[in-house]
Formats: sequence, C-alpha cells, structure tokens
Amino acid sequence: MIQTTVFDTKPYDREALLRASEGAGIDWRFLEFRLTRDTAPLAAGTQAVCVFVNDQLDRPCLEELGRQGIRLVALRCTGFNNVDLDAAKERGITVTRVPVYSPHAVAEHAVALLLTLNRRIHRAYNRVRELNFSLNGLVGFDLHGKTAGIIGTGKIGRIVAQILGGFGLTVLAHDPFPDPAWAARQGVEYVDPGTLATRSDVISLHIPLTPETRHIIREETLAAMKPGVILVNVSRGALVDTRALIRALKTGRLGGVALDVYEEEEGIFFEDLSGQVLQDDELARLLTFPNVLITSHQAFLTHEALSDIARTTVGNLQALAEGRPFSAGSVLT
Ligand code: NAD
Repeated sequence: MIQTTVFDTKPYDREALLRASEGAGIDWRFLEFRLTRDTAPLAAGTQAVCVFVNDQLDRPCLEELGRQGIRLVALRCTGFNNVDLDAAKERGITVTRVPVYSPHAVAEHAVALLLTLNRRIHRAYNRVRELNFSLNGLVGFDLHGKTAGIIGTGKIGRIVAQILGGFGLTVLAHDPFPDPAWAARQGVEYVDPGTLATRSDVISLHIPLTPETRHIIREETLAAMKPGVILVNVSRGALVDTRALIRALKTGRLGGVALDVYEEEEGIFFEDLSGQVLQDDELARLLTFPNVLITSHQAFLTHEALSDIARTTVGNLQALAEGRPFSAGSVLT
C-alpha cells in the first residue's frame, strides 16, 4: 500500500485516478488546493505527492516535502518547468512525469482553436443564441492554400502538421532537431525561424518552456510575422511575451491569437472565478480583443488523455511501492 497526496485535484482527475488504480494498492488523499511551500506540510504521513502544471515545486517546497519523508513526486503532466529538479535530487526525491499521453488531444485542440477563431464560431454561437442572425464581422479565410508554420515538430507538432496538411495548407516547420525523413513523408518543409515567420498565415507553437524558449514570441518576432497571421499557443504561456502580444494586437497587425495557456495562468486557469473581480490586467485586456480566443489549459482534456495520464501515474506509484523500475521516459531525477 502506498499513500499518495494528490494536489490540485479536479473531479476528472479523481475519477481517472480511481479508475486506473482499482486493486493497485494506492491509498489516495485528494486535496483540491495547489502544492506550494505553505501547503506541503499537508502531505505528512504519505510517501508520494501527485501534482499538475501549476503546483509550485520550488526549493522551499521540496525541502518541506523532504522533511515530510516524501520519496516520489509524480507529475501528472509532461512539462516539468514548475519543479526545481536540482533541489529534488539533493533531497533524494524521485520526480516522474507522464512522458507521453494522447498527443492527438492537444493537437486536435490547437486545430479546434484555429478553426473557431478563423471562422468566428465563438462569436456566431453567442449571436445566434441572442437571435442575432447577422453575419457582419464574421468573415474568415480559407485555410486551404494558405501556409502554416509549426514551431516544434515533436509528438504534438507533427500531428498538427499532418492535420493541417490534410486541410490543404502548405506546412513549414522549425525545430533544432529536424526529422528530414518524417518531413519528406508528410510534405513538410523545414525552414529557419525568420522564413517561417514571414511566410506563414498561421503559426502554432509546440515546444517546451525552457530558459531558451521563454518569450520566443516577443516584440521582434511578432514584428517579423506576416500581417493578418493567426498565432496559436497550446504549449506554455511564457513562450509568449504577453505585453508585447497586447501591443501587437493593438496595432491591428495580427489576424488573431488563440491561447490555451497564459503566462500568468497560475491561480486563474482551472478555477471558477466568475463571482470575483479579475485582478490580472493583462488577461483582462486580452479578453477585450474580438480576435483573441482563450481556453483555460484544456487541450489535454479528453477521456483518452486522462486515462493515459492516470495509467502512467499509477504505474509509477506502484513501481515505487514494489521497488520496480519506473515507466520508460518518466524519471526526471
Ligand atoms: P516533444 O518533446 O515531443 O516535442 C517538443 C519539440 O520541440 C522537440 O522536437 C524539440 O526539439 C522542439 N524544440 C525545442 N526547442 C525548440 C525551439 N526553440 N524551436 C523549435 N523547436 C524546438 O513535446 P510534445 O509532447 O510535442 O509537447 C510540446 C509541448 O506541449 C510540451 O512541452 C508542453 O509544454 C505542451 N503541452 C500542453 C498541453 C496542454 O494541455 N495545453 C498538454 C501537453 C503538452
């Protein structure tokens, strides 16, 4: 039996974890708030914590987890930019993640955002419900025949490239580790970032957040993009300099921006703040643009992705309990 404290639990997490752990010998303690240095003591008496993208596993938090005897941090996501891996290693805490789960979930959400934004489906939906059947202001463009630029051709970027290729777009890509054989099969052309910026009508980001990729979309990169471009970010909020994005949107040069992630999403996304005053002025400004579409980090939210995530997480907890190797590609420390 392994005791595990799950932080930032939502009903869909609890359901998927319970289903995946039937008979697995895991004793769950589900908590609805996030893990921070202040909430870490609530993991006392358990051997593992299970966390998500906005839990804050900085050095003080990991020191506290170490004092509580936590042996495993099991991330139920792929990205790990919120974990101080050195601090975990120093305390002998193993950190695992879910290296792969349905990349289709995330890729399909990116495409859903693109289609919605381009064809103004979000605005049309609201209008029709108000019995406003006017089409003024709802003109989009044919994706067929246009050019898409995919930044990052890993698991998710490749699927987006494939879907957009199917729509009849010319697909350009940039990745420091290109796969020419895949590109040749898919009819994708690898280009340098400058060429991708100037030629693409749609740009979609599919890269991890690292010190090198932070604010990869900023003043200069936005200025280099083709007027009317649609930018899609379902990867990590801080890939985009939000202030620079707002300035670019105000000039009217960008055709549209679809975001599933936001630089300061922590404490906002995943929460119901509908009865409160929004304190984030940049997010409030973004929400005023008619050509900005935001979802609250939901690209992963399909039944398939949730059960993949739960299965890998449960497998890693069982591996800790039984002294077996963790699932392939999971271990970060
Ligand atoms: P992956 O590791 O398979 O691929 C990432 C690719 O990015 C790699 O090919 C890498 O070489 C490339 N890359 C790194 N730096 C680059 C740069 N500067 N320019 C161009 N390419 C670069 O990752 P993946 O599974 O495709 O996921 C991509 C990202 O999607 C994750 O890091 C995560 O942040 C995000 N994500 C978001 C959600 C969500 O719900 N919104 C869910 C899962 C993943």
